[in-house]
Amino acid sequence: MIRTTERSEVGLREGLTHLLYPRKCPGCGIVLPAGKLVCDECREDFRPIEEPTCFMCGRQITSMTGELCYTCSTSDRSNAFGIAIFPYNDIMKKAMSDLKFRDRTDNADFFAAMAVTHAGSKIRDFAPCALIPVPAHKTRSRNRGYNQTELICNKIGDLLGIPVINDLLLRTRKTDFQKDLGRMSRRRNLEGAFACNFEVYPRAMIEAELPRVLVVDDIYTTGSTMEHCASKLVESGVSKVGLLSIAIGGGT
Ligand SMILES: [Zn+2]
Ligand SMILES: [Zn+2]
Repeated sequence: MIRTTERSEVGLREGLTHLLYPRKCPGCGIVLPAGKLVCDECREDFRPIEEPTCFMCGRQITSMTGELCYTCSTSDRSNAFGIAIFPYNDIMKKAMSDLKFRDRTDNADFFAAMAVTHAGSKIRDFAPCALIPVPAHKTRSRNRGYNQTELICNKIGDLLGIPVINDLLLRTRKTDFQKDLGRMSRRRNLEGAFACNFEVYPRAMIEAELPRVLVVDDIYTTGSTMEHCASKLVESGVSKVGLLSIAIGGGT
């Protein structure tokens, strides 16, 4: 049987954090009343992407007739479809970097809740057997104490009742930060950066128990990270890979 990663430790840490530090707005940082994930003013600024969107990455497109954005129509794509929740604009840049570098782990709850509100039905229709967060290299997440994508993914899994498998995809080597690189260098930077964990999940098990998975990432730019993950999963026996990005930027 596929096992999901133990989350009790993370849950305990989140619970204690919440008691000690009341939840703050992911936009302006004011302390929020209990039960709120964003303040009323900032809610307006966190505007999810609207249709029409690119079928492969979820980026907003202008054409009502075309199905793909320019980047997807001119690149190799191994995934079956893609969803994105927010454009990677200034408020998202701040909220995402607060989550990544300034311990604002409560922002993960907000992103997950918005993903479920705006894409819950699309995700349920795809009926993924598991959610797979894009892995961070161990030394990088160890420095921070957490992988922000895993936090978001775990929360989405909890809300939708879908198992999360944190150790199916492994980051096999540390790569440069993608945002600092051009398109070609990004592709080279990721060559061989991901592998499937066949020690724990043999190919026959993947083929039998994971025909459909949804890969979750925090920020999608050119799509090369997602493409490397998707192609590795398909190569390893998954039939259909869907993508979910919390924020999407770049491209047209
Ligand atoms: Zn606010
Ligand atoms: Zn696209």
